[in-house]
Amino acid sequence: MVCSACFAQNSKKAKYIFLFVGDGMGIAHVTLTEAYLADRSGNIGSEYLSFSKFPYTGFVTTYSASSFTTCSSASGTAFSTGYKTKNHMLGMAPDSITKLKSVSYRLKEKGFKIGISSNVAVNHATPAAFYANNISRTAYYEIGLQLWQSGFDFFGGGSFMQDKGKTKDLQSLEEITGNNGYAVTRGVKEINEISANVSKVVAFFNENDDIQNLSYSINRKQGEAKLSDIVEAEIKFLKAREDKGFFIMAEGGIIDWCAHDNDAAGTVREVIDLSEAVQVAVDFYNKYPDETLIIVTADHETGGITLARTGGGKQGFASLDGQTGSVGVLDKENGRAICDSINTAAGVGFSTKGHTGIVVPLYATGAGAELFTGKFDNTEIPRKIMQAAGFEF
Ligand SMILES: [Zn+2]
Repeated sequence: MVCSACFAQNSKKAKYIFLFVGDGMGIAHVTLTEAYLADRSGNIGSEYLSFSKFPYTGFVTTYSASSFTTCSSASGTAFSTGYKTKNHMLGMAPDSITKLKSVSYRLKEKGFKIGISSNVAVNHATPAAFYANNISRTAYYEIGLQLWQSGFDFFGGGSFMQDKGKTKDLQSLEEITGNNGYAVTRGVKEINEISANVSKVVAFFNENDDIQNLSYSINRKQGEAKLSDIVEAEIKFLKAREDKGFFIMAEGGIIDWCAHDNDAAGTVREVIDLSEAVQVAVDFYNKYPDETLIIVTADHETGGITLARTGGGKQGFASLDGQTGSVGVLDKENGRAICDSINTAAGVGFSTKGHTGIVVPLYATGAGAELFTGKFDNTEIPRKIMQAAGFEF
C-alpha cells in the first residue's frame, strides 16, 4: 500500500498531468506492436514503445455498473469521475439523474488549464466523458453544446459529429462554440500560429467535415495530421497560458475501431501513433521532470487479440506490412479476405468483434507515478491523479 502521508512528504506534486487513453488497447495490442517492431528489425522479441518502459505499471479493472464488459462512455465516466455507470451513459450515475464530476473540472477549480483531445471527434465518448453529462453517449448534439459550457482551454481533434444535430437543421455547434468565447482553428498551421490573446480554442485536425476523425494511420497521406500533432499544439497552447499547471487528456481513438474490424495491421499503426504522441509528452517531461506526470492506459480491450504460433518457425509479425490500407478501404470484396490472411500469416488471432472485460495495462512515469502500481479499478484513476497533484478528491 502507498501511504498517502508519506507520499505527501516525499514526492513532488504533479503540476503538468498527461492522461493518454488508447481506446481498446489491451496488453496484447501493446505486445503485438512491440513484437512487430522487433520483427521489422530482424529480431524475435520486443521493442519498447515510448511508454512501455515507464517505471510504474498497473492492471486496471474496467467493468461497468451494468456489464462486466464496458463500453467507452461507461469506462470514460469511471476514469474521469471516479464512479461507475451503466454502458452508454456519459458522466451520469446509474440512477440517470445524478451528474458526476470529471477530474478535469476538479483540476480547473484548482487553477489548472485543461486540454481535451482525441484523433476522433471532440464530442465522441472518451473526450466527452471529461466535459459532458448525458444519459446517452450518442446524443452528440447535446454533448457538443456542453463543450463550450465547460470553459476548458483547449479542445483538439476531429470536428463535431452531428454538427447540426441528427436532423441537420439545428444551429451549427461550431458556430455556437465560436459565438461563446472560443476561437476555432483548422489544421496544424492555424493552431500553432494562433494569437497570444486567444485564451480558449477548439482546434480541428480532420481533413474535411465529411469525416469527423483524423485519417487512420494506415491510410494516412503525406501531410495529414496525426495525434502527436494535436498533443504538440496542445502543450504549446497550454504551457504559454498556465501558471498553476495543466491537465491533458489525449485519446488514441482509432485503435478501438481497427480492433473492432479485426484488422491487426491497422491496430499496430494506431498503437504506434499513440506511442509517438506519448513521446511528445516524454520530451516535455524531460524538461520538467519533477513536476510532470504521464499516465498511459486504456478504457477496455477490443477484439480479444491473442498472438498464437500457428505452425513451425518464428511468427512473421512484419508480414502486417503487406497490408496497404485499413480493411474498410481495401477492395470491398476482397478486403476481409486479404486482412484475414495477413492476420493469420502474422499469427494474430481475434476472439471477438466487440470489447472484452480483460484488465488493461497502465504505465506511469514522473511526479506521483508510484501511486499507479498494482491492480486497481479504473475509478481509482482520477482519485490518484488528484492525490498526485496534492489535492483531496
Ligand atoms: Zn469500441
